[in-house]
Amino acid sequence: MDARLLEVLVCPLCKGPLVYDKAAQELICKADRLAFPIRDGIPIMWEDQARVIPVEHP
Ligand SMILES: [Zn+2]
Repeated sequence: MDARLLEVLVCPLCKGPLVYDKAAQELICKADRLAFPIRDGIPIMWEDQARVIPVEHP
């Protein structure tokens, strides 16, 4: 994915920064625990398309 595009992308909910998970092809908002999918190089920045990240258990 284009690094410049990643720089301008923020979470649509909290407007916070996103973490690019290259392996999973997802953009992750740690604050909301949502993972937005990237399909064919295009980030899908809709809440109803996002995957809820389960809480990690130690
Ligand atoms: Zn967020």
